[in-house]
Amino acid sequence: RVGVNVTRRWISSWRHSIREKDSSVNAFVSTSQPAPSGPQNLPLRDVAIAVKDMICTSDMPTSSSSAMLKDFISPFDATVVALLRNAGADIVGKVNCDEFGMGSLNTHSVHGPVVNPFQPASSSIPWAEREKRSAGGSSGGSAAAVAAGMCYAALSTDTGGSTRLPASYCGVVGLKPSYGLISRWGVISFADSLDCVGVMAQDVSATKRVFNILNAHDTKDPTSASPAARQLASSEAARAWPALALKNLRIGIPHEYFPSELSAEVLTPVRAAIQALKSRGATIVPVSLPSTPYALSAYYVLSSAEASSNMARYDGVQYGLHVPLPPGSDLTNSASMYARTRSVGFGAEVQKRILLGTYALTADAFDNYFLQAQRIRALVREDFNRVFRVRDVLASSSSSSPNTSTDADPEGVDVLLHPSAIRTAPPLELDPDAMPGDALQSYVQDVLTVPASLAGLPALTVPLRNDLTGKGEGEGGEWPVGVSVVGQWGCDEVVLRVGEFLEEIN
Ligand code: GLN
Repeated sequence: RVGVNVTRRWISSWRHSIREKDSSVNAFVSTSQPAPSGPQNLPLRDVAIAVKDMICTSDMPTSSSSAMLKDFISPFDATVVALLRNAGADIVGKVNCDEFGMGSLNTHSVHGPVVNPFQPASSSIPWAEREKRSAGGSSGGSAAAVAAGMCYAALSTDTGGSTRLPASYCGVVGLKPSYGLISRWGVISFADSLDCVGVMAQDVSATKRVFNILNAHDTKDPTSASPAARQLASSEAARAWPALALKNLRIGIPHEYFPSELSAEVLTPVRAAIQALKSRGATIVPVSLPSTPYALSAYYVLSSAEASSNMARYDGVQYGLHVPLPPGSDLTNSASMYARTRSVGFGAEVQKRILLGTYALTADAFDNYFLQAQRIRALVREDFNRVFRVRDVLASSSSSSPNTSTDADPEGVDVLLHPSAIRTAPPLELDPDAMPGDALQSYVQDVLTVPASLAGLPALTVPLRNDLTGKGEGEGGEWPVGVSVVGQWGCDEVVLRVGEFLEEIN
């Protein structure tokens, strides 16, 4: 397996590992005091879990990697944190990310960039002299903490790929569950209709173990999937897959996910993995998801529009940073206090998204940007529904989108499989403004992850084995490559099971 080799350790050694390694990785932004162990029978007793700094914890600050919230301590734990603590987990610390989750490289952070801790097995170059690569974003701290063996698992968020991209760059497993399965209560919003809490770990079974604790309806989160929808999805799954085995699995390969920008160091191992699945009996079905090329633009319009509205709460009054007006100013001019606070508190990328999103929502631009993007979102969803063997239980239970096809195709596929990213981890220049190419380059990194986000589908990335990764085929051939498995809404179990098949062929 690609990735730093880690054996399960007891809690003190996780903490030791953080102390030993984090000065060169910069994954952790705060650490907790060790808590006494709970009863023996707790499912995650003493398991060390790191939590993205956008998820509220009452014992450590939750900064969202922003100067705006640098010293903010939440009065409560997010539901996901409470569930983990109740299961006996030790929340060892909070981990770095792009500011408010906006980014793909974890360079837009008030805490500085995260360094990818991956070490090629054959490398004899000392750590300090090695090329520094990005851990990916926005949940770079979560991926790096897992990859460096500083925790057993980490919570991330995923709005358009922020779990899958960093997991893929760092060589760990990352799950973005179906939208609404995991509670977002206490998770700082970026774009509510897309935001999901994700799980990262060294392997699928650890990912599943943590996911199972978090997969519960939460009355505090109005977007939490209802018990009825969950029940419906699991009975559909039970009917469709009475016994899931590789030999009766139909895997769709969407050709739009193999764009010309895909690097050879990614393509070679993904092809090898598909071949290996086929030789073990899986049926490989070429499919087309024609709206894919429009998904990235739609994502950036919709996520920025929602972000512009979510960011409005940081006004220097309610909580977070407050920058007072200079002495002698007109103190009744609250607009200029807001402007001063927001100019200092938000980084350049967040300011850009607020401007883009606000523009997309103006009366002049609304029809051409926001509404068009919503239409594309519906088309992306339809594309997926057309290829899957099981129906979309959410579309059939709501009448809100009349164009959405809800009929399942018995000839359809069980899951889709495609590369998680178009390249391996990009080199990390320590100056964020000097990051590879321009801003568009970093947006393009999400091209393969945003469609599942727009459609709210479960997506899992699994690292491919080192000798599948085209080692020696040029620079970077040894850096991790991830392959993604995407399933119908609510079929997270199936996606995880296919992830295990991938580990078996690995
Ligand atoms: N990279 C994407 C963005 O910048 C996705 C971020 C995310 O999933 N939080 O918006």
